[in-house]
Amino acid sequence: MKIICKNRINVSFESSEILLDPQIVDSKVSSMFVSHAHYDHLPRSKKKPSIIPPTVCSKATARLFQERIGYSLNQHDYWENDEFKLETVPGGHTFDSTVAKITNKENGNIVVYTGDVNLEDRAYLTGFKPFKCNTLILEATWGDKDYRFPAFEHQAKLAREYIQKQLNQGNPVALLGYSLGKAQLLNFSFGDLCEERYSTNAIWHMEQTHKELGLDLYSTKLLAKDKFDTDLGTNKPWILFYNHTSARDKTLAHLKRKYNLKIIGFSGWAKNQEQYKYRMGADAAYVMSDHSDYNSLLKIIKQSSPEKIFTVFGKATELARELQKEGLNAVPLKQGQSTLESFF
Ligand SMILES: [Zn+2]
Repeated sequence: MKIICKNRINVSFESSEILLDPQIVDSKVSSMFVSHAHYDHLPRSKKKPSIIPPTVCSKATARLFQERIGYSLNQHDYWENDEFKLETVPGGHTFDSTVAKITNKENGNIVVYTGDVNLEDRAYLTGFKPFKCNTLILEATWGDKDYRFPAFEHQAKLAREYIQKQLNQGNPVALLGYSLGKAQLLNFSFGDLCEERYSTNAIWHMEQTHKELGLDLYSTKLLAKDKFDTDLGTNKPWILFYNHTSARDKTLAHLKRKYNLKIIGFSGWAKNQEQYKYRMGADAAYVMSDHSDYNSLLKIIKQSSPEKIFTVFGKATELARELQKEGLNAVPLKQGQSTLESFF
């Protein structure tokens, strides 16, 4: 078995190949795995390929893939042939995101590819439960010692108090988060605090899709881009679910001036509180990431006790270097840098 970083991640056997979160859908491979539907894990092209290989992912990911890329996957809960079995376990990153478990049938060895992953049980998300494997392909978004985060529950409690206080004072609030993942988490966690709720276009569409997938979210009104003022012309305070943007966002700046809007950011970057608030033009910020923080990455490694670790994405080089210092067999798996290594 070989693992290389070419079409995002390729796992090849004697006569078959699996693509993990591929950038290009290759009709010739045996199977594909899609961990979740963030764009950095999806194909670059929206052109439908002639043949879509059997694709292992959750039904929710298949639906969100279709929403974002425009065609349907050949979705399977698992896939196997004579050489491998490809299965999934919950990843805890976004609604029904998954981690890949690949069993090499020749020797029973297990490869785990985390995709993007989170260990914590958060709201409706079941955290990833690591298990023993031989090779771990581990995301390294926060693979730096500086990124150790407080518990989600703790940050959610503080944010809830702040939002409630602002609403009580008659100030509307904008909660900033990516349209897929964070926006649903914020809706689920804080939607009950105000009955007057609005979402921007991308977030509103994701809300409808997630509701169809069975997620119980609070209904929001779609805020049309050219109708901000008429739609929000109410005396009551409101909650606005807004994209994770920056201080340069003209709409937010306008709403802030006109309604004394309070802007609240939610991100792992909020670890550097003042810097993040300045960058986002935010009045308050909470450290809330959909990815594993540094300590959680170490926990995943400990609990899966792999013989070999490939770090991918984000701080892959930094994390691998730290792990090597601990005597672990870790290397970064980087695009264009083939790690052609037969280790089984
Ligand atoms: Zn992601």
